[in-house]
Amino acid sequence: MAANYANVNAVWPDHAPAPSPQEALTGARKLVRLALTLGREGSLPQKYRGKFALTSGVRRCWTRNRTFYVNPDNTRGFHGWKGIVHDISHWAGRRLYRDYSPHDHRHAFIERTLAEHVVRNGWLDGKLKREPKPKPEIDRIALRAARIEARIKAWETKRRRAENALAALRKKQRYYRLAKASPVRAGPDQTGLG
Ligand SMILES: [Zn+2]
Repeated sequence: MAANYANVNAVWPDHAPAPSPQEALTGARKLVRLALTLGREGSLPQKYRGKFALTSGVRRCWTRNRTFYVNPDNTRGFHGWKGIVHDISHWAGRRLYRDYSPHDHRHAFIERTLAEHVVRNGWLDGKLKREPKPKPEIDRIALRAARIEARIKAWETKRRRAENALAALRKKQRYYRLAKASPVRAGPDQTGLG
């Protein structure tokens, strides 16, 4: 079946919930990757190498300054996933076809493919939801043991430095004791030649 806007719109249920910011970002990354595989037959899939960030309000999903801005719920155009799919399909159409004109059959094909991807993979039902990572349980005993070990190491370093300093001072001390015992060795002044 050729893609046209009647069957693009038929893909969407009537009241689809808007994605959360996390779902929108996760989904947009996947949709951009998928859309860029839908170029001319036999052409290699392109890659988008910029980053993704959130936007809001009436701003559409689009690239600016090497960033793909994703609006989870456009308040003016199409809402929620429908808006995200609509914008990304236009963005990709422009990138994939030099002679692209908005809303031609190639755009309809991209938009429909993305819309089906969203619906079939359960994104409207929250399949992209990720729980925030739980904070890692801190092992307090291991933490204290590690701190003690670090303190021992620090004191051992200090001890080594103290031992080296004492050894150097004892050497000097020996020298002056010997010098006192036989003044001739103490320096040139005592040799009678100076
Ligand atoms: Zn459009």
